[in-house]
This record gives sequence, structure tokens and C-alpha cells, in this order.
Amino acid sequence: MAGAGDARTAQPRDVLVIGGGPAGLEAAWTAAARGHRVQLWEAGQALGGQLNVLRDVPSRARYLKLLDHQQAQVLRHGVTVHLQRRADVASVLAVRPDVVVLATGSSPQAAPAVPGGGPVYDVTLAVREADRLGDTVAVVDLTGEWATLSVVEHLADLGKRVTVYSPVAAVFWRTTIYSTLATTRRLREKGVRLAPLRRLQAWDGRVLTVEDVSCGELHRHEADALVLAQYHMANDSLRAPLQAAGLQVREAGDCLAPRTAMEAVYEGARLAYDI
Ligand SMILES: Cc1cc2nc3c(=O)[nH]c(=O)nc-3n(C[C@H](O)[C@H](O)[C@H](O)COP(=O)(O)OP(=O)(O)OC[C@H]3O[C@@H](n4cnc5c(N)ncnc54)[C@H](O)[C@@H]3O)c2cc1C
Repeated sequence: MAGAGDARTAQPRDVLVIGGGPAGLEAAWTAAARGHRVQLWEAGQALGGQLNVLRDVPSRARYLKLLDHQQAQVLRHGVTVHLQRRADVASVLAVRPDVVVLATGSSPQAAPAVPGGGPVYDVTLAVREADRLGDTVAVVDLTGEWATLSVVEHLADLGKRVTVYSPVAAVFWRTTIYSTLATTRRLREKGVRLAPLRRLQAWDGRVLTVEDVSCGELHRHEADALVLAQYHMANDSLRAPLQAAGLQVREAGDCLAPRTAMEAVYEGARLAYDI
């Protein structure tokens, strides 16, 4: 199969990749391997984006291999990397690259005010502060996504009693049917309880109240902590002003629409072949 090095460009261009998560890393090294002059700006102290949270999740260690591979390719193909460099409109216009690749990812929404006023963890915080969650953890999943599944499995691996509540008639509905064959078995082995058709009503830090969506009954369950998984919001605020300033802007990954690392890597590579 042909690789990026076999599809070298006849017209090397100056490419600025903004964001060093899986989408930006893939776009950067692929464009550089094709012969473009590429620099990558990352606001944080390290490359890897959201996937860095999985450094604390042994069952998802394969994602670290992805990041290692991408960083090795970035080095090998001579991408100039700037860490702790946050792009804004002025700094990008000062550079005026031929192409801007936006790979700025996504951020969690602010936790909503839950009646009862108990503390609420988002999925990232649940990994980072797992030892503060106690033994019995309620996870209310509004996304059906891999991110929640990763965190649920991790908490169960740590020996916690985990119950997953979802407001719809399924759990983890945005993972594929093929994955579900394996993950359903794993969740059962890990003792995770699944409670679809349950809508969060209240949480006071000790008792969770959920409504059975089918009949309106209220159920109360004790828990030590509540994790609320919500959709992320795309970090896409640079797109419109950079386009309005006449720059050619391309996008990949969660900044286009928050999803998973798989789409981020695919879209990063795909757009680098079009530059
Ligand atoms: C807890 C958790 C578990 C997950 N588990 C899985 C899983 O099991 N499988 C899976 O496929 N996906 C999982 N995901 C989702 C996956 O991590 C994301 O879909 C993926 O990281 C998106 O990649 P990205 O490169 O588009 O964006 P991001 O990973 O968000 O990276 C964007 C980068 O851009 C940087 N940035 C933002 N703005 C600027 C700026 N102005 N200037 C410079 N840099 C900037 C950010 O600092 C960040 O490093 C999980 C996510 C979380 C939070």
C-alpha cells in the first residue's frame, strides 16, 4: 500500500497545524512526509490531546502506542513542534501560512446544576481522581460513547461497583454492534450494572434519584459518587475569523464534531493528502 512518502507533493506549502491531539499529529506528519513544510502549535505542555487521560487507564494502553507512533513520525519527518503555544487569530495572521489545519479538539461542557446539589464528576476528572470516588459509583451517560465506556471499565477494574444509567433504551449506543459483542461480556465479567431508560432527577451526594422513563416511577439508589458523561463541545472558534481573513482553513477530528480518536486520525491523514 502506498504511504505518505509515496505521494509526495509537487508543490511544497507552508502548513500550520493547530492542536497536537491525534488529529493534528496525524495531519502534521502525513503532510510533512509528503514534502510540505509543517509546524505544529500545541497549547498544552505535551502532545496527545484528550487521549493523554488514557495514560491512567491500563485497559486502553493501546492508545499510547498510537501516540508514540504519531510522535515518532512527527520527529522523523521534521515537523517543527511548539508546545505551550496557543494559537489565536493575531498569531496565525502574523505567520500567514498557505494552509491552516485546525485540530483544536473539543472540551467538556460545564456540569449542569443537578437538583440536590451533590458533587458531579466529568469523565476526565473521574479518571484523574478515581481514588476519591469511593466504592460505589453511579455513571449517568448522556452520550453512549467510547469515552464513557473506557471510564466505566476502568472504574470497575479498580474494584468499584459501577452502575451505568442512560436515558434511552440502550447503553453505549454509539459504539458499534461488533464491539458490543465483546464489551457486553467484559462489563458482565467486571460486574457492571446497566440501567437503560433511567433519567437523572436528583443527586444529593449520597442518594441518586432516577426516573424510569417508561412509566415515570422514581427510584432511589445510594452511591458514593456521581459521574455525568455529557457531549463535548467543538473548539471551533478560530475557523470563521481565519476564513474571513482569507486563509485556507482545513479541519479534522473533534473540532469538526466531537467523536472518537478513530475519526480524528482518519480525518487528519485524509486532509493531509489533499494539501
Ligand atoms: C476520558 C476520555 C476517554 C476517551 N476514551 C476514548 C476511547 O476509548 N476511544 C476513542 O476512540 N476515543 C476516546 N476518547 C475520545 C478521544 O480522546 C477524542 O475523540 C480525540 O482525542 C479527539 O482528537 P483531536 O485531535 O480531534 O482533539 P483533542 O484530543 O481534543 O486534541 C486537541 C488539541 O488541541 C489543543 N488546542 C486547542 N486549542 C488550541 C489552540 N488555540 N492553540 C493550540 N493548541 C490548541 C489542545 O490542547 C489539545 O491538545 C476519550 C476521551 C476522553 C476525555
